[in-house]
This record gives sequence, structure tokens and C-alpha cells, in this order.
Amino acid sequence: TLSDRLTATLQNLRGKGRLSDADIDATAREIRIALLEADVALPVVKEFIAQIKQRAKGAEVHQALNPAQQVIKIVNEELVGILGGETRRLNLAKNPPTVIMLAGLQGAGKTTLAGKLARFLRGQQHTPLLVACDLQRPNAVTQLQVVGERAEVPVFAPHPGVTSDDETVTGDPVAVAKQAIEEANHAQHDIVIVDTAGRLGVDEELMRQAANIRDAVQPDEVLFVVDAMIGQDAVNTAEAFRDGVGFTGVVLTKLDGDARGGAALSVRQVTGQPILFASNGEKLEDFDAFHPDRMASRILGMGDMLSLIEQAEQAFDQEQAEAAAAKIGTGELTLEDFLEQMLAVRKMGPIGNLLGMLPGAGQMKDQLANVDDKHLDRLQAIIRGMTPAERANPKIIDASRRKRIARGSGVQIREINDLVNRFYEARKMMQQMAGQFGFGGGGGKKN
Ligand code: GDP
Ligand code: MG
Repeated sequence: TLSDRLTATLQNLRGKGRLSDADIDATAREIRIALLEADVALPVVKEFIAQIKQRAKGAEVHQALNPAQQVIKIVNEELVGILGGETRRLNLAKNPPTVIMLAGLQGAGKTTLAGKLARFLRGQQHTPLLVACDLQRPNAVTQLQVVGERAEVPVFAPHPGVTSDDETVTGDPVAVAKQAIEEANHAQHDIVIVDTAGRLGVDEELMRQAANIRDAVQPDEVLFVVDAMIGQDAVNTAEAFRDGVGFTGVVLTKLDGDARGGAALSVRQVTGQPILFASNGEKLEDFDAFHPDRMASRILGMGDMLSLIEQAEQAFDQEQAEAAAAKIGTGELTLEDFLEQMLAVRKMGPIGNLLGMLPGAGQMKDQLANVDDKHLDRLQAIIRGMTPAERANPKIIDASRRKRIARGSGVQIREINDLVNRFYEARKMMQQMAGQFGFGGGGGKKN
């Protein structure tokens, strides 16, 4: 597998400081193959790889990872970012009914999705109305009626409701859509879901019809429904629907199949529209909000590698934490450690998040809440301006040493006093915490 190949070629490089161009190129080649295997469209692959290289250049390698793992971590983060970061919810109209129109090729899963959405929304105390505007395909209206029955949601179909089994239903989908909105107003449906016709290929008449329906009902959401198995063609189809009808969101269907889901990245990258839902089966309950992280790992096909990376990082962080805890417990915390801790905190993002992870750290949180990045810079400068002996034993920092350090690091003497006091306070607090939680003391690891 890809993970094995990468591990084999790059495992000797563990622990280097920064990613080199060679590391990045080697891994990028493998990522490229993975993306193509996942059916991401070629132009999208190229653009994405370029983006990754840019970001990976000169990036620091986490001490617990090898460069390949580091690149993959970056790739994964970037993928999750592009696929949507957080998932967006449906836009609901301020003045109901909210109109949701479904568009996409024939067989994409629109009618099935209509039922799924209806059921989902009914579960959220909405009162949806399904509207049959696919008057093209034999059975289309009947199919929606069956789906509506299962979802226990009413279906608005063309009057007088003649639908024969094998014949094309005659009627004007635009008129049906308009009548449906009236009906929704009348019967107090707060959401209208408009199912539309599709063709096997993109076709002008289909686009015109969809655009006419759109103009007639002014939907709050137009969802482009796309089969995850569509592969390379996703880009063309998405572009055609974007230009022909326009859409505000994407739904991926048939994710229960073996497609790796490259279409998700293609559609997202090309149209910029968010993916709202994922459909993964024929039953109405096979339906979920779209999860960018799951999709990213599916596209990369490196689930094992990704969990390995996570484990390695966690194990490393735990080792660090245990070593620090052992020191704190014995009261040997030095300014050097203090500096290290501060740098670690900064690297790991917002201080609050990290502190939130420490049991009983509530009191310290307040103290650190007003330490911003600039402040950290100054503290860092001060500690760097001390000799190793001073860092190990701040007691020796007398007035003349303070003056020297202040001059060397461009700060006021008052700031040095502040820092030293803060350090003593932190040390005291940490010793108390160590006692409270029973770590340290003997200096050994728990478990
Ligand atoms: P439409 O032409 O866009 O309305 O597509 P349909 O809703 O009629 O779906 C076409 C076929 O795909 C039907 O046989 C559905 O049962 C099937 N289908 C739709 N969504 C999914 C899905 O998420 N997974 C699977 N396995 N089949 C699906
Ligand atoms: Mg249909």
C-alpha cells in the first residue's frame, strides 16, 4: 500500500529539523498517485499538489514524526480545509417557506435525496412538502410519491395527477413548482423540496428547464447532487451546472460504494461551493451531514497512516508532559523549562485550549489569559538573555544581573522582576497541583 511504500522510503529521515525540497517532492509524488487513484480530476490534483508544496516548504518537522508523515499531515489538514472545515447547515428562509431545489444528472440520486432530506427535516420539527418537477422520466412522479410515503411527507404532483407507468407525464414543471409554493403557503409547509429532472449527460434543454424552475421559485438553496462514483467527470458536470443553473451547495451520493470520493475534492475546488450532506445507501436513513475529515482520509486512502501520525504525536506529547511533571514534582523546574513550556504552548495554539486539558488548571487559566503573543516574545527574550546558571537558579539574579539582562534583551528591569515572580508563583502552583494529582515526587512515570 501507499503507506508502506512511504514508510519504507522515508523512515530513515526521522527527526530532521525542517522539511527539505527532496522530502516534499518524494512524498508529493506519492500523494499525487493517491489522489489520482481516488479519481480526483487531474487539473485539481495539479493545483492541490502545488498548494501543498508551497505550504510544506520549510515547515518544521514535529519531533515525533518523519518528514513523510509530516507532509501527509499537512496534506490531510489542507484537504480537510478545502473540503469545508466545518460543515454548513441548510440556509433557511426568514419568511417561510424555505425552497430547496435539487439539480443534477439522471441517476445522481436526487429523488432519493428528496426523501432523505424530507425525513431528516421532518425529524427536526419541520413540515416539508415534496414537489415532483421531474416530468421527463416515466415513473418519476410515482417514484417520488413512494419516497414521500416512506418519509411520511406529502408530495405535490402535477394536476390532475395523471401518471401512467410507462409514459412520459405531460405537464409544465415550472407551473407545477409555482403551484407547489402556493400550496405550501396555504397548507403551512415551512420547507419545499423541489425534485427536478436530469439527463444522462449535460444537455442544454435540461439546463434551461432547471434555470426556469429556479427563476420561478427563487430557491433559498440549490443543491447540486452528484454521484461520488462519477470520478474524473465531476469537474465538467459541476462546471456545467454551476454555469447553467448555479448552485449554493453540494450533496455527494453513493458513498456506500467503493469510490474513494475524489469527486468531492474536484467539485469543491472547482466551484467553491460547500458540501452539505453525504448520502450513503438506498434507505432513507442512509444520510448524514458531510464530514470533511472523514472524506479527506478516504480520499488519501491513508487511514492507517493518519492514525499512526496522531498516535505518534500523542505519545510524544505525553512523554514530554510526564517528564515535565516529574520535574515539577521534585521542585526542580527551572526558567529553562519555563521557556520550553511557553514555546510548546505557543506552538500548540491558543493557550486556553491547552490549559483546558490540564486537570484543575482553572486558576492558572486566569493568570495566563492575558498573556498574548507579544508578551511571550518579551518573556522569551528575557530568558534567552540569561546565562544557563541564571536560568537554572533564578535566585542568583541580583540587581546587577538584572540590569545586564534588561540591557541585553531590551526590556525594563521591572519586566524581569515580573517574570521571576511569575516563575516562582507558577512553580509553587505546579507543585501544589503535582501533590494534588499524585504525579512526580519520585520522578518516575505513572503506569
Ligand atoms: P435521480 O435520477 O437523480 O432522481 O436518482 P435516483 O434518486 O432515482 O437514484 C438513482 C438510483 O441510485 C436509485 O436506484 C437509487 O436507489 C440509487 N441511489 C440513490 N442514492 C444512493 C446512495 O446513496 N447509495 C446507493 N447505493 N444508491 C443510491
Ligand atoms: Mg429522480
